[in-house]
Amino acid sequence: MEISVTLTNTPKQKPADESSLGFGKFFSDHMFIMEYEEGKGWMNPRIEPYHRLSLDPASSVLHYAQEIFEGLKAYRRADGSIVMFRPWDNCKRLNKSAERMCMPEIDVDFNVEAMRKLVEVEKDWVPHTEGTSLYLRPTMIANDEALGVHAAKRYIYYIICAPSGAYYPTGLAPIKIKVEDKYVRAVRGGMGFAKTGGNYACSIKAGADAGKEGFSQVLWLDGQELKYVQEVGAMNMMFLIDDKLVTAPLDGAILPGITRDSILTLARSEGITVEERRLSVDELMTAADNGHLREAFGTGTAAVVSPVGHLCYRDHMVQVNDGGIGKLTQHFYDTLTGIQWGKVEDRFNWIKPVC
Ligand SMILES: *Cc1c(COP(=O)(O)O)cnc(C)c1O
Repeated sequence: MEISVTLTNTPKQKPADESSLGFGKFFSDHMFIMEYEEGKGWMNPRIEPYHRLSLDPASSVLHYAQEIFEGLKAYRRADGSIVMFRPWDNCKRLNKSAERMCMPEIDVDFNVEAMRKLVEVEKDWVPHTEGTSLYLRPTMIANDEALGVHAAKRYIYYIICAPSGAYYPTGLAPIKIKVEDKYVRAVRGGMGFAKTGGNYACSIKAGADAGKEGFSQVLWLDGQELKYVQEVGAMNMMFLIDDKLVTAPLDGAILPGITRDSILTLARSEGITVEERRLSVDELMTAADNGHLREAFGTGTAAVVSPVGHLCYRDHMVQVNDGGIGKLTQHFYDTLTGIQWGKVEDRFNWIKPVC
């Protein structure tokens, strides 16, 4: 399929101050879009001026949330070149989410090329300041104009771009998280591994309640026993217990993060013992009390790594690494961002040049 390009006649003013970009507040001039119809497949892929979608009020996505998305970044390097980080893994994960949600898959190479071409068209929208990036949000929605509950026959896939600010303008900053012991995010046989809006819709209340108590994220426990540690809002979690890096296994309830995989790959290549296993909250809190929990951090595309300074379960608050940034946490942050920014060798072929 050829991707046609129609450029805008009315380019927007780019935000002049890159330090106030924030996340997902501004959008670039163009978007990628194509439609799907059962029996015909994906059709009419094109890059065109950013525009609103026109949906029938009966459109199935609005009622039954048959929706999936992805999130990845394009970076401008010091030499002026623009690259993406592991985009094919986002495309593969999109297809896994699609399978779970009864949505059509998209050829991985085609999808990577759609992203690459869109970023190339939008290259002037990739911000320049160190730490900033152009965030891509690929999204697929069901679009049958009928109220029956079943897999839709029509879909829309689009990609929009948001120039985004540095996540840590003044360096890594530890966060305070609350172990959630009332609400759950994902259950066995559910859709925890899919990047789908419903997983977020059901998590907003817990996040809002924790926010009122002064926490920036909740740490989810498993949905059966409320016993085993899963992940936080949009990040997987890793714990350095003694000298072992412990993280929840990909059991279908957690999101298989690409940052998670990248850090586990780095850790193994450096001879660090990695344990992908169930970790109970009791074991975690005991390790913290006894001084065995040395570091804790979240991993995700937005922040890369996010150190945890405080962890609270019920009424028990523990400090991790004296509330500071762990050595290994900082090391993984420096290495991964170094690969993204071209300062550290790309040993695992994670970088996709854009232009
Ligand atoms: C996107 C996401 C992550 C992180 O995945 P990355 O590929 O590393 O960005 C973790 N957990 C949830 C729930 C997510 O939606």
